[in-house]
Amino acid sequence: MDCLFCKIASGEIPARLVYEDDAMVAFADLHPQAPVHLLLIPRRHIETLNALTAADDALIGALLRRASLLAHAEGLADRGYRTVVNSKADAGQTVFHLHVHLLGGRALGWPPG
Ligand code: 5GP
Ligand code: ZN
Repeated sequence: MDCLFCKIASGEIPARLVYEDDAMVAFADLHPQAPVHLLLIPRRHIETLNALTAADDALIGALLRRASLLAHAEGLADRGYRTVVNSKADAGQTVFHLHVHLLGGRALGWPPG
């Protein structure tokens, strides 16, 4: 499958990895929108949140908990941070392999554009 994030997960395309295990990989976004901008992805190719089933509950829980642990490791836990999952066109999703953005290190505007 020709998927950028599958290739990052397999190591075929390099990225600055900050965490990996059997189920997921976390790495620095190539075009950071904040002082800290990480992406957390499942190793398995899942296009969007729309494709989730009950069998994915543990995986999604593990991704979000890892985002929390990385936020602590990056020193963001006290000031705060944002976790975002863009789904399809209206949200501006550009890479169709499920990913959680972890953004922090500056005050983030709300509502988003
Ligand atoms: P989306 O817009 O789909 O929610 O987010 C895709 C993210 O992937 C963007 O923030 C973009 O900067 C990032 N990205 C796109 N191509 C690459 C790449 O080759 N390497 C890395 N590390 N990030 C990428
Ligand atoms: Zn993929």
